[in-house]
Amino acid sequence: MRVRRSLIDLDDLTAEELAGVFDRTADFEQTPPGPLLAGKACVNMFFEESTRTFTSFNLAELRLGADVVNLAPKSLSLATKGETLEDTALTLGALGICVVVVRHHEPGFPQRVALAFDGHVVNAGDGVHAHPTQALLDIYTLIEEFGELENRTIAIVGDILHSRVAHSTVRGLARLGASVVLVGPEAFLPASYAGDRISVERDFDAVVPNVDAIILLRIQRERFVEAPISDREYVDRFRLDHRRLALARKEAIVMHPGPYNRGVELDDSVLEFAGWRYARQVQHGVAVRMAVLDLLVNPR
Ligand code: ASP
Repeated sequence: MRVRRSLIDLDDLTAEELAGVFDRTADFEQTPPGPLLAGKACVNMFFEESTRTFTSFNLAELRLGADVVNLAPKSLSLATKGETLEDTALTLGALGICVVVVRHHEPGFPQRVALAFDGHVVNAGDGVHAHPTQALLDIYTLIEEFGELENRTIAIVGDILHSRVAHSTVRGLARLGASVVLVGPEAFLPASYAGDRISVERDFDAVVPNVDAIILLRIQRERFVEAPISDREYVDRFRLDHRRLALARKEAIVMHPGPYNRGVELDDSVLEFAGWRYARQVQHGVAVRMAVLDLLVNPR
């Protein structure tokens, strides 16, 4: 058996490992697993802002009994004293660190850490590239709701181009047999994103009645200088609001990886909608991350 060292994107996981993560998540939510990471040290290096991901990785590590070190970018010699990333990774290995969780604005940064570090690396979001643990908790939320995802249709709406969450989630959903409808303006959603089980649509009104779930995205303003579409046009065409929500199926659900911007991609009626699952997504974040850490550190 090949031992999985790191999680950089969902494609790193075999179908069996993917199923294993979801099974462990369900188990851990039912019964706290105890100190599966006792005596192991985890370092969290977040070079970009984070609320949900940072907090839930911390909680996951603590609940598994790990020793937890949070390295703020400013306290890293890498950032201020000219140490290379590779030498930082070697140093963490020499300190006996078992897991490094890393978020960085540069796509590929966690992969570079993984190549140099003698331990496990978990990508907590790298630029526009990938955010595998967010994708896992989003998919887990959908599975909790619908069971098998085959024959389900999931819309992902908004700034797909700059969303690392969308990039990871789309692939995971397609692998599990769901149909994915991507919705957004040309500037945020090139037509080339269409593929097997993945369609590209521009007319959100026409999509809403035909899907089981709608995943809304934030416009990732930190990833471009000039907005390619005005807020007014965006709201007009792509905001999920009271009027569009009325077109949705009765049993449809709405999700968002957070942080959400009220008034832009959604209005307050969404937050009161019976199918709004944001809190469930956040809740699953801790157990999903516990499951990933356990999979990497304690392969069975
Ligand atoms: N929290 C997610 C991320 O880090 C989504 C977002 O920021 O809009 O990618």
